[in-house]
Amino acid sequence: VWSVTDPRDGKRVALKKMPNVFQNLVSCKRVFRELKMLCFFKHDNVLSALDILQPPHIDYFEEIYVVTELMQSDLHKIIVSPQPLSSDHVKVFLYQILRGLKYLHSAGILHRDIKPGNLLVNSNCVLKVSEILLDLITDLLGTPSLEAMRTACEGARAHILRGPHKQPSLPVLYTLSSQATHEAVHLLCRMLVFDPSKRISAKDALAHPYLDEGRLRYHTCMCKCCYTTSSGRVYTSDFEPVTNPKFDDGFEKNLTSVRQVKEIIHQFILEQQKGNRVPLCINPQSAAFKSFISSTVAQPSEMPPSPLVWE
Ligand SMILES: [Zn+2]
Repeated sequence: VWSVTDPRDGKRVALKKMPNVFQNLVSCKRVFRELKMLCFFKHDNVLSALDILQPPHIDYFEEIYVVTELMQSDLHKIIVSPQPLSSDHVKVFLYQILRGLKYLHSAGILHRDIKPGNLLVNSNCVLKVSEILLDLITDLLGTPSLEAMRTACEGARAHILRGPHKQPSLPVLYTLSSQATHEAVHLLCRMLVFDPSKRISAKDALAHPYLDEGRLRYHTCMCKCCYTTSSGRVYTSDFEPVTNPKFDDGFEKNLTSVRQVKEIIHQFILEQQKGNRVPLCINPQSAAFKSFISSTVAQPSEMPPSPLVWE
């Protein structure tokens, strides 16, 4: 991911390269699904595609470049940074995570690759959970019963059964932070339930009193759905919107060959560009291209400052 300037409006955006897309059918399908989702999402707490760069002729079509909003540092970096996180930050972060998750779930999408920072609160499938995190979860919750693990994948089940049997130790949650109030621990306990059918849903978690302050702060000064007039703040009628209709994954059924998917993706990208904006493309002759292609990530100086201090 690079940070670049959109030449059409001068805005800083992120440019993500999806390389080696067409090596095999599995990677083709995965990338197509990701692309479809990025174009489908319309929610302030879910990253979406602002644009896709114009693809070359299909014979030279090997990689895909997606333009997204330029995001600040990820939650993992924020958590491990020396700057302390106030309980207000935690509340507003958790509010936004749940707000985005409620939207994703309403679209019929489960996020299976959530970053370490928020994995504990909302992962619904342990398939991609690192073993370290699995251990952390069972330290808190005790070893889950086989019944609770029925939705877990074979690898995760085997890993847990290999380990020692653990008793739940939720009081340890109080020792994690001096800010661990009863309210916070109550919500955490509802979210740290191994069995997804018994775990609190994103929608219900948002109704927990712990999230009230985060909601207020978000919609008072951070959101795009409410606005301020001379007579005061005008709030949206729906603080945590869902999507209708759901994301339709029916397109995946008839994808059978690399060449076919390549043609469909090529066509899909061209269709996305039928707006009124000039299509963007990469100019490999430009002076910036070499440093662009050899650089790895956006420079920290180009990122918005990490969490603002609130009064
Ligand atoms: Zn709002």
